[in-house]
Amino acid sequence: MLQENDSLSTLTAAANADMLHHYGAAGTVIAAAPGRVNLIGEHIDYCDGFVLPLAIERYIVVSAKLNNSTEARLRSGDQPEAVIDLSSPQSISDLKWSNYIRGVIKGFNDLGHEIPGFDACIVSSVPSGGGLSSSAALECAMATLFEGLLGIELGIREKALLAQKAEHDFAGVPCGIMDQFASAFGEQDQLVLIDCRSSEPEMVPFSNPDLSIIVANTCVSHDLSDGGYAERRKATEDGIAIIGKESWRDATLEDVLTKEAEMGDRVFRRSRHVVGEIQRTKDAVTAFKTGDFSNIGQLMADSHASLRDDFEVSCEELDLMVEIASGLEGVLGARMTGGGFGGSTVTLCETKHAEEVGKILHDRYEAKTGITPVIFATRPAKGAHVISQS
Ligand code: ADP
Ligand code: MG
Repeated sequence: MLQENDSLSTLTAAANADMLHHYGAAGTVIAAAPGRVNLIGEHIDYCDGFVLPLAIERYIVVSAKLNNSTEARLRSGDQPEAVIDLSSPQSISDLKWSNYIRGVIKGFNDLGHEIPGFDACIVSSVPSGGGLSSSAALECAMATLFEGLLGIELGIREKALLAQKAEHDFAGVPCGIMDQFASAFGEQDQLVLIDCRSSEPEMVPFSNPDLSIIVANTCVSHDLSDGGYAERRKATEDGIAIIGKESWRDATLEDVLTKEAEMGDRVFRRSRHVVGEIQRTKDAVTAFKTGDFSNIGQLMADSHASLRDDFEVSCEELDLMVEIASGLEGVLGARMTGGGFGGSTVTLCETKHAEEVGKILHDRYEAKTGITPVIFATRPAKGAHVISQS
């Protein structure tokens, strides 16, 4: 069954109710930023590849007001309150969730903007740790809030890069640009094609109401992710060094095949994923631009198989969810999405079958694993923005 997506007004009302409860008054600036799901182009954002994410109808909303002090006080659900001294340079704290915010504050400070004292409450409909980039949503929501509080506007790219740097330096995650770009640049009815070599986004229309995107969160997260991510990055760096080209964008499948022996099995398979996935993403963009979806299912299936077998970032639960989706009426294609080792799958589906597909995914996955997944449908949503300001 498909879960409802809370509207922005529902999330805003909840954030303001929290503000009243904890800090005595509703916020004067309210900002929102969405999570994202990647349709295709996985684990190639750090390989100069193309990625094709969209902002989803799941948001982090932050409501804030100035407090005439040099402290920021923030609350989010059940998390301990974060209290941040704004008068001294930002550094990493033991309270993990506050680090994303400290990183964004540091980014503004580096641009010469002091952040005035404020109180804020955060409400989210982006599942945390579900591969839907709640971390990028949090960073982009905070950066957008600061724009509102300061009465300035950074360029969207500048804001996304600032958010990415916060994730690198304060969360210790050396991510590519996809998550923050999708959350910042997202638009209704548009996919965000990102050329990760030039860091240029290009909007690709996804306006056909007959198509829907189903996100299925397996609700598992395997602990391999930290070392696993570093190993994949290193393998791709080794691969391109052996090929002897400057960028994966200039590499071909033939280059990889020619160097198989020199690479060894593991680097060879990682490299084969990179060149294959770059090509599949280009082909998928053509499908979306021309409306010819005859090969999209195959592209998504090949992407999943490559991530499972060559890049080895899938897991049993992701494989199961994709397998359940693959044969169903109305499904065009399905694959794991995001970093892997758990998290979510993305399924492209005819809208008229979405409810039924959601129900089958839910019931069969739960019956096999005993885990209740979180499943919802989404259209491409509006990126980070100020909801209101008074
Ligand atoms: P993902 O980005 O895939 O959701 P990450 O591990 O990168 O997963 O980010 C999740 C972390 O981001 C959480 O552990 C928490 O520290 C922070 N976070 C996400 N959403 C919220 C929220 N609503 N409130 C506070 N912190 C959050
Ligand atoms: Mg994240």
